[in-house]
Amino acid sequence: MATGALVRVPASAQAAAAPARAVLLLLHGLAEDGGAGIARFDLARGQFLEHLRLLQGAQARGEITVMELDAWWRGDACRGRPVVLCFDDGGRSDVETALPLLQEFGMRASFFINSAYVGRAGYLDWSGIQALQRAGMGIESHGHEHCALPLLPRRELESQLRRARHMLQDGAGTRVRYLAAPYGLWNRRVLETALSIGYAAVCTSQPGLTEAGALRICRNALLTHTSARQLQGWLRCRPGSYAPRICLDRLLWTPKNILLYAPGGWRRVAPPPPKV
Ligand SMILES: [Zn+2]
Repeated sequence: MATGALVRVPASAQAAAAPARAVLLLLHGLAEDGGAGIARFDLARGQFLEHLRLLQGAQARGEITVMELDAWWRGDACRGRPVVLCFDDGGRSDVETALPLLQEFGMRASFFINSAYVGRAGYLDWSGIQALQRAGMGIESHGHEHCALPLLPRRELESQLRRARHMLQDGAGTRVRYLAAPYGLWNRRVLETALSIGYAAVCTSQPGLTEAGALRICRNALLTHTSARQLQGWLRCRPGSYAPRICLDRLLWTPKNILLYAPGGWRRVAPPPPKV
């Protein structure tokens, strides 16, 4: 789907010179250093610390600015290329590990939470979510349950997205404006439904750069095996650093969709693995 048709340019961005497209980084849980069997989508604390140091260095040289998602999307000015940090799934490590490190480095991030899992073992509870919000972090939606959204009938899709937004807004006392599609699975119907019930944009797991005001936001996943060199390449927008992920994403898109719609294929609702 072409991104060009999915861009709404905010008034604040129209008045300024065209800002650089942003690098959005997607993280999941943070595990203790030396822990056995870190999940592919999680990072060890030390790895995240190294990434933060790299971001801090690039920011000090004026190459990038780490911004909060909504400030970037609305077109706030910044020095160099905007970089936005996103955390999905709402695990306890968001408040126990990520928050203190982000505060130490003076950086803000946005946290995408499944409202149905708040308070479950291993997940954030409302006091943790409020602590993130008070610290200036963004609280956003990952849906009510961790559903493959394209599979849901219209009314259930609306209910999942609306419920998550209302519960998170009420529980965190803040405005929820962005949806991150679980498993990175989305289609035009998901996007249009999200926009119709008040979300400003949908975040995917597709790699690449994104313009402020885009309705579909690319995010580049920082995985256990993502190296500092790879991250540096993304920040400097070296085409070679994005190409492998973009090719893989395009290659997998069709098989992923066949699996999604095949009878007995993708599970409609699958909570992320329990976090302990
Ligand atoms: Zn997820």
